[in-house]
Amino acid sequence: MNIRATQVDVKRKGQPMVLMRLQQGAEMRKRYVAQIPRWRHPLVGSLLTFPVVGLAISLMLFENYLIPHFPFPGAPLFLAIVLVALIWGIGPALLAVVLSTLALDYFYFPPFGQFSLVTWTGMLQLLPFFLAGIVIAIISGQREVARRRALFAEQALQERADRLELANQELKQLNQLKDQFLSMASHELKTPITTIRGQAQIMLRRLSKAQELPKELADVPTALEKIDEQTHRLNALVDDLLDLSSMRAGKLKLRLDSCDISDICRSVVEDQHVLSGRNIELELPDTPVVVQCDRDRLGQAVTNLVSNALKYSPEGSLVQVAVHQKGRAAVIEVRDAGQGIPKEQQKHIFETFYRAPDVQSSKKSGWGLGLAICKDIVERHGGSVWCESELGKGSTFFVELPLK
Ligand code: ADP
Repeated sequence: MNIRATQVDVKRKGQPMVLMRLQQGAEMRKRYVAQIPRWRHPLVGSLLTFPVVGLAISLMLFENYLIPHFPFPGAPLFLAIVLVALIWGIGPALLAVVLSTLALDYFYFPPFGQFSLVTWTGMLQLLPFFLAGIVIAIISGQREVARRRALFAEQALQERADRLELANQELKQLNQLKDQFLSMASHELKTPITTIRGQAQIMLRRLSKAQELPKELADVPTALEKIDEQTHRLNALVDDLLDLSSMRAGKLKLRLDSCDISDICRSVVEDQHVLSGRNIELELPDTPVVVQCDRDRLGQAVTNLVSNALKYSPEGSLVQVAVHQKGRAAVIEVRDAGQGIPKEQQKHIFETFYRAPDVQSSKKSGWGLGLAICKDIVERHGGSVWCESELGKGSTFFVELPLK
């Protein structure tokens, strides 16, 4: 027989659940009692119930003396029960009910100075008072349980919030460590990559000057070109990583100046046209659109968008860059006629290292850093960047910046 399964069954049937609830209740009570001031402890309450009931009896007798046939003679005793219940809870309240019933019997119902409780008539006489007292004690007891539960829930919430805060701190520390590592590793990689690339380029230049290469060296130029190309890629990645880590560490300083963003876009489009050999349509307004920005960094952000538009759209399709003014903002639009980005991916593309699954399995190179850097730069300028895309029709990336 599977003992484990049987244990689980017992749990499902409820027995251990009841036990758990009882334990929880006991824990709640313990914590509640530990929280309340000493004079409100149930034991103190039980002791103080005697003088309180005594006072109530004196009041009742005085009231009876002033108004002999007062319709609610037990009113001071009810008041005493309510008071005890509200201050000390259900235990002392039940004691107050018992004491009040006995006092009422002894001092109020004839024969005075004797307990008539021992007879059926006496018991029936006192029953309404006793039951009403019990109801009051129970209602106030419920109130006390509710208060205890609320307190317990509040404490549990507080504990959870503390634990979350701690986990958050640890995550932040880990994140800082990761950024630190990335920054150190990138710095360390930069020098060897530059050296390898430099040496490959020198060799290529030398080989290109040679009249004719021996047969066994015929493949060397191609190999060197590959080294040059791949180290160029690596270099770009290291630059991106360094940029990202200094942005995250808040070390990136913007050199702000008044710039016409039409100039920035024109220069980016020209560079990208030379690099890709593709035509890029540029639509600029007649008047300058001046924003306060770091020309190089904003250029870097626009370059990332335009190079993506070229990379993720078919060769020969149209890529457009437009600048215009919208109210108090300058807007840059980069549009392509690529395959578009599905809605569920659009919310992730600005995250670091995110690449769409189909892009990952394609030959398109990249590290998923370009848009994260672009977003960071634009936001540092007080602007925002977003994407609108329709599957099969293409994507448009918008950058909005406050006008100077
Ligand atoms: P990378 O291009 O190096 O992969 P990015 O951060 O620039 O990284 O872009 C993140 C992802 O967003 C890309 O991998 C791609 O899936 C998607 N993406 C970005 N721009 C476009 C675009 N114009 N059209 C379609 N998908 C895009």
